[in-house]
Amino acid sequence: MLPRDDGVSHVFHRVLSRPLPRAVRAEGVWIEDDQGRRYLDGAGGAIVVNVGHGDRSLVDAMAEQSGRTSYVHGTVFTTEALESYADAVAPLLPLDDPRIYPVSGGSEAVETAIKLVRTFHLARGEASRTRVIGRHASYHGNTLGALDVGGKQALRRPYEPWLGRFDHVDAAYEYRCPNPDHPAACGAWHAERLDRSIVDAGPSTVAAFIAEPVAGATLAAAVPTDDYWPAVAEVCRRHGVLLIADEVMTGFGRTGRWFAVDHWGVRPDVVTVGKGSTSGYFPFGFAACAAVAHAALRRLTEDDLVDASARQGERLLTSLSSALEDDPSVGDIRGVGLMVGVELVADRTSKVPFPRGRQATERVLAAARDAGLLLYSSTGHVDGDGDLVMLGPPFVITDDECELIVERTAVAIASLRTA
Ligand code: PMP
Repeated sequence: MLPRDDGVSHVFHRVLSRPLPRAVRAEGVWIEDDQGRRYLDGAGGAIVVNVGHGDRSLVDAMAEQSGRTSYVHGTVFTTEALESYADAVAPLLPLDDPRIYPVSGGSEAVETAIKLVRTFHLARGEASRTRVIGRHASYHGNTLGALDVGGKQALRRPYEPWLGRFDHVDAAYEYRCPNPDHPAACGAWHAERLDRSIVDAGPSTVAAFIAEPVAGATLAAAVPTDDYWPAVAEVCRRHGVLLIADEVMTGFGRTGRWFAVDHWGVRPDVVTVGKGSTSGYFPFGFAACAAVAHAALRRLTEDDLVDASARQGERLLTSLSSALEDDPSVGDIRGVGLMVGVELVADRTSKVPFPRGRQATERVLAAARDAGLLLYSSTGHVDGDGDLVMLGPPFVITDDECELIVERTAVAIASLRTA
């Protein structure tokens, strides 16, 4: 096809407010565009790229498997790629005697998990168990079911007429914790609220509770207190409600453990994964993607990258905390492993957010981009206001690259004072 000469792209881009640079290559934590500009990928895209860009072993696995079989139907065949990957990943999953059900991404994993719990209850003769409880201010994907069980208002609003099947309880979000006795026994308080919501609905009508072990896309690495997960898991068990841990963002080493629930020794009934399972090299599904996922797993294991996530995450959090200590726009810095969030506020003492019209997050992201740093973000979690910036670089990040992220993040956030 002839190239267009009117400068108009035929692609329906996800950003319409500015032209997007063309990425031409990427390696480690760096992405380069066609003008030769280099960007430090401080968030691994959307906290996706765990093993780093341009890893030959993943690319080779993809090519090699695609050369054998790229698509065969799952009701007719299994493949060596899938079977050997499942054998390798099974002992690492926080599940007893796990089975993996391959799909093509995080949203589909969540949709499938919700259907799976329904199927489970039906098979056991508990057809009345239809309710699924999610959490306010959570993110589980953008397909209709995942959107509905999620709790991000701005994303839900246009589609409200199609939503409303699921219930929601508060997320564990320590910076703005609704527990009147905060910080005392927050986990027990949340568990009690979940218990009440199950009892009010009637336990025999509740199929599952779904939550992100560390809230990511909407609350920027909100880590619960240590008593949260054990208490919540106990409530679910007591009522025969299945526990779905959505580890799409946190899985495969992002929080410095293989899975985030490992921090609290909790064994869910279903775990959803995506992103880091293949480090974004291929959407996870049947055949070639299992080979890529296996190559990603080998890289994580052989290069001790989960430990690297824990170690570099601590470095990043400590260094960022001291660099941003005196910045008046920084209300909270939090996280675990290489999943780090910064909450921006207009006033540190009262925690009052910037008005959304100020576009604080967008400004910080633009300033960071100008400085050659890519960040992830979320807005609107405090009644429509609220600004969150997230960092989550690939685990291969070096000490110097960590420092570069800290420097550039500090400069980008400081720009709010002059803007
Ligand atoms: N669940 C969680 C916890 C996520 O963070 C995401 C993506 N941000 C999803 C589900 C959806 O995954 P995908 O974008 O691959 O559909």
